Amino acid sequence: MKLLLLSIYLVVTAIRFALDWINIRHRQKSRQPLPDAFAGQIDEERLDHSDTYALAGDKVGFIEDIVGVLLTLVFLFWGLLPWYDRLVAGFSDNFIFSGLLFFALLALVQLLVGIPFSLYRNFILEERFGFNRMSFKLWCIDLLKSLIIGSLLFVLLGGGAFWLVQWAPQSWWLWVWGFWAAVSIFLMYLSPYLIEPLFFKFTPLAKIELETEVRDLLEKAGAHAGKVLQVDASRRSGHSNAYFTGIGKVKRVVLFDTLMEQLDDKELLAVLAHELGHWRCGHIRQQLIKAQFVALFSCWLAFTLLNSQILPGWLGLEQLSFAGQVLVLGWLGSLLGFFWTPLGSWWSRRHERQADQFAINMVGSGQELASGLVKLARENLSNLFPHPLYAAVYYSHPPLVERVLWLQKGKVKIKTSADQ
Ligand SMILES: [Zn+2]
Repeated sequence: MKLLLLSIYLVVTAIRFALDWINIRHRQKSRQPLPDAFAGQIDEERLDHSDTYALAGDKVGFIEDIVGVLLTLVFLFWGLLPWYDRLVAGFSDNFIFSGLLFFALLALVQLLVGIPFSLYRNFILEERFGFNRMSFKLWCIDLLKSLIIGSLLFVLLGGGAFWLVQWAPQSWWLWVWGFWAAVSIFLMYLSPYLIEPLFFKFTPLAKIELETEVRDLLEKAGAHAGKVLQVDASRRSGHSNAYFTGIGKVKRVVLFDTLMEQLDDKELLAVLAHELGHWRCGHIRQQLIKAQFVALFSCWLAFTLLNSQILPGWLGLEQLSFAGQVLVLGWLGSLLGFFWTPLGSWWSRRHERQADQFAINMVGSGQELASGLVKLARENLSNLFPHPLYAAVYYSHPPLVERVLWLQKGKVKIKTSADQ
């Protein structure tokens, strides 16, 4: 079994690297003339610039990936796991404490390994291409804040789960799932008020006319805008976005100041209409429900496998602590999750099309969204020529050229009662 797992891991790793490789080759070799909508926005020189940016990112990503693969191999297959497991068990007999310690030390190692990459990405790579707007001091403060929030959540969610395992040995899977679901839904509603303000400054829109238009658009889509805010994302990065959150019909709309710099008002409203489309088409609710079903099934499966004491044998080990087995399960889950990726991406692209159609219905045509997306691609140096296979596996949005052509052909569709 150990050999089989190792083989699956190596095959998945090889597929991932092969996909990256054909995608890089494709980008360099298969550049095609762009549709009219790109004229005046993205020329050959800009495409060369995008290629250089993407390649620089690929190189760091590749090294990071290799480090991750080597660490996984050493830890799971070359004997580090049982040694580490015994080491942690030596500190304390307390089930909850040693469980938390097991994961905390690993998370610390992961954090330390990740720091040089994060520094390189922000201060060398993004800096070189003019995206980084963050000072080193801000980077350190961000890291510290995330560490504190992460640790608090870790102790709450992890400690709570270990306590429930001890408290209800025969049915913990249901309790742990319920506890995590409750906390995550609670956090989803609280995070805009508790966590996000720790990192960003939210202020009312500087442009009053735009706020009126945003409110009109929301009313038209069947929602009410509680607050329309802009956020100072430009303090950290030149990349841009828009989103909205909120319970029920009252929505809080947040526009990145970078997005407002890059797009004109009509394009901005079209982007927002697309985001509203995700809400109106029920995508957000669907995602949430799907995630809870997956979590419930995972908890039950974990319970069954942990009870059967089958896991240590799969890695050729005689015994492994509860936390150690949970770790192995998590790793197995992410390994098998890879096979699920193409389906998830396909499903997401389908949602994006529906949200695009909703935006067309709202603003009357796809032109504004198309020109907005082209501008964003220019600003973000997006890859316009992904390999079709790579895009099919990983892309959560339709590739831009295809999407823009579709938007330009798009017609307003009147929803009849038969569609609903
Ligand atoms: Zn979308």
